[in-house]
This record gives sequence, C-alpha cells and structure tokens, in this order.
Amino acid sequence: MRSVQLALYNTLSRRKEAFVPLDPGHIRMYVCGPTVYSYPHVGNARSAVVFDVLYRLLRRLYPRVTYARNITDVDDKIIAAAQAAHEPIESITTRTAAAYREDMAALGTLPPTEEPRATQYIPQMIAMIERLIARGHAYAAQGHVLFDVPSMPDYGKLARRDRDDMIAGARVEVAPYKKDPADFVLWKPSADNQPGWDSPWGRGRPGWHIECSAMGESLLGETFDIHGGGQDLMFPHHENEIAQSACAHGGAPLARYWMHNGFLSMNDEKMSKSLGNIVTVRELLADWPGEVIRLALLSAHYRAPLNWTTEVLRQAKQTLDRWYKAKELLSDVAPTDVVGDELVQTALMDDLNTPLAIAEMHRHADMVFNVHDLSKTTMQIIDRGALKARLLREGDLLGVLAGDPVEWRKGKVNAQEENYISQQIEQRNEARRRRDFSTADSLRKKLEEMGIILEDGPNGTTFRRTDQSIRIKDQE
Ligand code: AMP
Ligand code: ZN
Repeated sequence: MRSVQLALYNTLSRRKEAFVPLDPGHIRMYVCGPTVYSYPHVGNARSAVVFDVLYRLLRRLYPRVTYARNITDVDDKIIAAAQAAHEPIESITTRTAAAYREDMAALGTLPPTEEPRATQYIPQMIAMIERLIARGHAYAAQGHVLFDVPSMPDYGKLARRDRDDMIAGARVEVAPYKKDPADFVLWKPSADNQPGWDSPWGRGRPGWHIECSAMGESLLGETFDIHGGGQDLMFPHHENEIAQSACAHGGAPLARYWMHNGFLSMNDEKMSKSLGNIVTVRELLADWPGEVIRLALLSAHYRAPLNWTTEVLRQAKQTLDRWYKAKELLSDVAPTDVVGDELVQTALMDDLNTPLAIAEMHRHADMVFNVHDLSKTTMQIIDRGALKARLLREGDLLGVLAGDPVEWRKGKVNAQEENYISQQIEQRNEARRRRDFSTADSLRKKLEEMGIILEDGPNGTTFRRTDQSIRIKDQE
C-alpha cells in the first residue's frame, strides 16, 4: 500500500481533497482544449503542460487512465477568422489543429487518449439538447435553443457568483427570445454562409458549452473523475457544462474534481489574443528547446500566476543543463531499480507541487555530483545504477531528461545565442566592407570574450568555440 495519498485542489469545494477515484481500475479525465483558428500561445500551452503532468502521475498510480482533450472546430471566432483570411473553415481548423498537436508535442506533452473534434459529435449534442428540452431544462425559440437557468436551483455553485454578477460576467446577450437574461444558448441558427447542421430546430450549430458536455459524456460516461481547464473557463463555460450535464443526467454530476490552472501573464497582464500581448509557442521554439519552455511553465505551482519573462526561461535552461550534466556523469552505468522514496512523485501527489518536485530533482542531481567527487573505491560501493534509475524515472514524471546528454550539451548554445552570434558576424562584415577596421576588430574581440573564435575563409566567416563549457552571454 502506498503511504502517500494523491491530493488535488477541487475548485468545487475550494479545498485540497484526497483523490478518491470512481473506479480505481480506470481513471477518467477531461480537459478543455483549444479553439483552433491560430497558433497556440504559451498561455494556452500552460494548461496542456500542467494536465500532461497530472496525466503522467495518474498513469503511475493507476492501471488505466483515459484522458480526453477536445478540439473546438466550430465557433464564431473561427467563422470570423475564416472570413477575414478568405480561407475555408475546414482548411483553417485542420491546419491549426495540426499545428497545435505539433507544438504541444514539442513541449513533451503525451498525446491524450482521446482528442474529439466538436464537429464529429453533432448528433450527440442534438440528442443531449433534446433530453434537456424533454426534462424541462431548455426551450426552443426563434431557431435557437436556450438553457433555462432558473430551472436549475444550484446554478452558480462552481463560480460562487451572485446572479447579477453572473449575468454581467457571461456577457450574455439580452435577446427577445430569452425567458431569463441568464439563459444561455445550446443551439443557434446558421446563415447560409455559416457552417450548419440539420436539427429539429432548423439548420444551425451548437453553442460552445454543449460541445464539451456532449463529448465528455460520449467518451467518459455521465460522471467522471476530473475536469480541467484554465481559470478563465470556470465561468461561464464550466458552470454551464455542469448545468447541462447534471440536468441531462437527472442530477448525476459531470465530474467529481474540478481543476483550474492559473493565468500566464506578461508584464503582469493576462496573456491573451484580445490584448495582443501573446508569444506563440512556435516563436519560442525558434530560440529555446521545447524542454526548456516546458520546465519554465512548470516552475510555478499550477494554481499560481506565472509572469512570463526571459529570466524564467534562462533559469529553466540552467536547471536542465545541470540535470543533463548529472545524467552524463552516469552514462557508464545502466539504470537499475529505484531504491527508497520517490520524492518527486511525492511532491506531485500533493496537488502537483512542481516547484517542490524541481527542488527534489536538484537534490538527486546534487547526490550524483557528490558521488562523482568521491574516490574511485568509495564510488564503487554506491549503487550508481539506482541513482540513475531515480533521476530518469522522476524526470519522466515531469516530462524531461529523456534526451541524450551529449546531444544536449552540444546544443547547449541555444538558438537565441546562435542568432546573436550571426548578427555580430554580419555587423562585423559590414564594418569591414566600410573599411571600418576598428569596429570590426572590437566586434571580433567581443565574441572572443564569449569563447567564440571567428575564422575568415574563402566562403565567408565561420566560428568555432574555444571550449565546451560555453558561458551564456547575458544579452540584456
Ligand atoms: P482558448 O483557445 O482561448 O479557448 O484557450 C485554450 C486553453 O488555454 C483554455 O484552457 C484556457 O483557459 C487556456 N488559457 C488561455 N489563455 C491563458 C493564459 N494567459 N494563461 C493560462 N491559461 C490560458
Ligand atoms: Zn470545455
């Protein structure tokens, strides 16, 4: 028996709770995925990476885990983007869903067990809406179907907002066909130039909230264990998912544990497309290894805000350099069995305490460095295979350290520095063309101080490094 219990903060109770699965033989988790019409930014990636760590942990603890993360491929934002770009909707959603998959894979996230696309579940959505109407929780009006909010007495229990707040927060339209201003759309009519499906209420398309309720039910059953997403989804999206599903299921709850990751911000403002302060994962990948971006995202506790800076990335880079160095020092032994407590796992079992998990990884690395400093004879007594097993097994839980340490070291100069060097060479060449030899010379000296030696040949200027342990030059 495991002595440590998995504990997760449940937004429903606003408390950390012991995780009790519905079926210990099969854990079921749903996380709201992207609306696909553009490249994901690093704020979107935070939710994917955080729930990937939870997925990895659950797989360690339980024999079977089904993890569903949807793709919203029908939405008014997509329609608007398609019209603006004069690109067919299908082409935008296929292209950006593939880009999302690629970017998340580059950050070391495992593919979810299920990746449902909303447009493939329209019949299930229509069936759920029909059930809601039959049970008196929804009504049709002027081609729309609306959820009847007053029909559900405990509506608002997740977000804990009062009625006026909720109406203002949801920015729900006050429309003549609504019985109550808080009622929200389950189905709406589509114009001829909008995507639409035949339904008992005419040609139309689903509202965003019903998509997740229907996909969750189809793939994971009426009630499942964990539902996750970003904090911004708590209201109205998750509140509405809860209302739809519970009312369609005669009261059975949608999920037992609701988890929300905090915002990623830049200059202390939430990173979001509407504010225009986004950095895409793709842009970051041009300068940093995916593993660095991943560890940077895990450097703060998932519920805490994370302010995104170059410093956060640089720290993560240094950390990984150190861990890979430790791995390299053990390259002569094969991993055996882990001996003793797995402290990274223990840290993660306490509501995914990634900062503590990273500190524990540092302690493992310390141990490897200390053993390395011992005399050859003492070193033989220590089970270095077990040390290695632990480093790898715990690294895998965080989704890092699977790479080859020598390759890591070779790529140690990141693309950002590589770009910097090329720019310096270009500036120097320009100075030489102007016959400004003193500027050219000082640029060469500057690079030399960084351990970069320039070599001028018939095919232009190349560079080599003076040693392997390159200092990362502070460019700011
Ligand atoms: P969207 O494509 O906007 O629906 O967002 C996809 C996922 O990313 C959702 O789970 C959001 O909650 C999450 N998300 C969006 N912006 C941020 C941010 N700045 N910080 C953290 N999570 C975010
Ligand atoms: Zn959702």
